[in-house]
Amino acid sequence: MGYKIDLHTHTIAAGHAYSTLDENMGVAEKKGMEIVAYTEHGPKMMGGPHQYFFNNLKVLPDYIYGVRVLKGIECNIMNSNGSVDCEDKVLRNLDIIGAGLHRVDGGFHPGSREENTFAVINTMKTKKVDFIAHIGNPVYDIDFVEVVKAAVKYNVAIEVNNSSFQTSRPGSTANCECVVKLCKEHGAFVCLGSDSHYCEDVGALELSTKLVKKYGISEDKILNTSKEILFQFLNSNGNLIRKGKVK
Ligand SMILES: [Zn+2]
Ligand SMILES: [Zn+2]
Repeated sequence: MGYKIDLHTHTIAAGHAYSTLDENMGVAEKKGMEIVAYTEHGPKMMGGPHQYFFNNLKVLPDYIYGVRVLKGIECNIMNSNGSVDCEDKVLRNLDIIGAGLHRVDGGFHPGSREENTFAVINTMKTKKVDFIAHIGNPVYDIDFVEVVKAAVKYNVAIEVNNSSFQTSRPGSTANCECVVKLCKEHGAFVCLGSDSHYCEDVGALELSTKLVKKYGISEDKILNTSKEILFQFLNSNGNLIRKGKVK
């Protein structure tokens, strides 16, 4: 049986995804999911939502069709200091905060291995994010050893993004293998996300699951294993931004 927690999904609000939240959650219910993190792209994504969108996630219920919705964001890493494109006052009310490197206007564009690695590690150091999305993207040359070591040090999870093996970021597979192997060696937390941009993909975690099993990541290091493991991580991972506890 597969994991019942998907920690990375998008809707039409992204500007380049094709389902509503209601459609996503309908599929989640159909697939027997327990928790879905709604992690829309940060405001700097072209065609994406304004910051008010994230501020107003509070109007959503905690459960839709009986499936828990975590209100989150996939921030854009904007520069080598690790700044992200959402203000602290908004981030502090979110349940789950991811950050990733994307080619967005005014954002961090691929640089040298050192520059890219520095940007990701500095994002972790800010203690604002819970996970780093799709670091296996070959567009950004990254020192995975240093990033995984930093993930352990700052207690940030490393995402294994299911869509990286299918439709997105071609050429990611070898990097993802390397990253997961390092996560096992160093004891980093990992999280799995479908990165769904169409409702039928919500909960699609098969390829990510295969990889974490291949390298023997223990269940207690996988945030998707259970609500208890996930919430314990979110509430004790040293995220200094979050205001209250995720319940
Ligand atoms: Zn992304
Ligand atoms: Zn995404």
